[in-house]
Amino acid sequence: MKQRAYNFNAGPSALPLAVLEKAQKEFVDFQGTGMSVMELSHRSAAYEEVHNQAISRLKSLLSIPDQYEVLFLQGGASLQFSMIPMNFLSAGQQAGYIMTGSWSEKAIKEAELFGKPYHIASSKKNQYRTIPALSELTFNEQDAYVHLTSNNTIYGTQWKEFPETGNIPLIADMSSDILSRPIDVSRFALIYAGAQKNLGPSGVTVVIIRKDLLEKENSDAPTMLKYSTHAKTNSLFHTPPTFGIYMLGEVLRWVEEQGGIDVITQKNEEKAKIIYDTIDQSHGFYYGHAEKDSRSLMNITFRLNDEDLEKKFLTEAKEAGFVGLNGHRSVGGCRASTYNAVPFEACKALSEFMGEFQQKNS
Ligand code: PMP
Repeated sequence: MKQRAYNFNAGPSALPLAVLEKAQKEFVDFQGTGMSVMELSHRSAAYEEVHNQAISRLKSLLSIPDQYEVLFLQGGASLQFSMIPMNFLSAGQQAGYIMTGSWSEKAIKEAELFGKPYHIASSKKNQYRTIPALSELTFNEQDAYVHLTSNNTIYGTQWKEFPETGNIPLIADMSSDILSRPIDVSRFALIYAGAQKNLGPSGVTVVIIRKDLLEKENSDAPTMLKYSTHAKTNSLFHTPPTFGIYMLGEVLRWVEEQGGIDVITQKNEEKAKIIYDTIDQSHGFYYGHAEKDSRSLMNITFRLNDEDLEKKFLTEAKEAGFVGLNGHRSVGGCRASTYNAVPFEACKALSEFMGEFQQKNS
């Protein structure tokens, strides 16, 4: 087999090889059923086992308390931008958004269709290089909720500590860092994440919702867009993305086999460090976009001093087998996404490549 690519895609992104191989092995005959997971009825016992195991694995890996439901929805994190205000923001009511990048901007835009969202804080003035300091944030008890993006996939910043919002429900888009580090779920009323970075293939969106929030839901929302519809039916109200959920369950099993979230966190720190160190020790040949104390362990954003050299770097990196190093089309530059399934060896190889490129070009 051709060597696996050094895959630094921002999402969909690398999946663990062991998971792909297991899926390949089970592809045409899943556990003696004589069919693939895709061909199982979503009402069959065999599929239900897959579905329920994925839910219980996620609950156990993230230590999700009993008063939360885990839902598998569709429509990506983008549909959550709409579903959240549709269900929890009434006309004229305020909700606070903490603006840390393009995904926060997309989220608040949807909320504007339903109520009066406002900026609690924004790091736009410094090109989204930072996460606002907790001391800068003030909350209004009347607000329907507070929304933040835990990891900013495009700018490469990440919250290290989350704000304490008291009785105001805290909602987080964790699309690009869920399962990469321990989180205290009890601090949040709702967490959502598209699966295609740390959880599995695209097509599934995970929602972790505190049960009391379901009672606050707007009853005018269409059936499919109400969280309670999916909570009441164990996410089997309609046909779920069965293969994606199977893959998600296998990724969770892999995380368990790696030793759980703590081991994964340590590996993620080592992977990010080797690349950040290369940037920091390059005497300005490479420079990071994010301020050091806001740096993401998942998306490492950097630039080269000279635009032509940056283009050359990206071209030669591609030729050398590094995939997905171009920054997001809206900001340019370079970005290495080092999600859970990206092996240390890929990060080490990138660090070496960056060192050699610098030597040759300075
Ligand atoms: N939020 C964040 C933080 C993201 O990184 C992305 C996708 N890259 C989205 C939301 C949008 O997700 P989706 O494509 O699943 O709608």
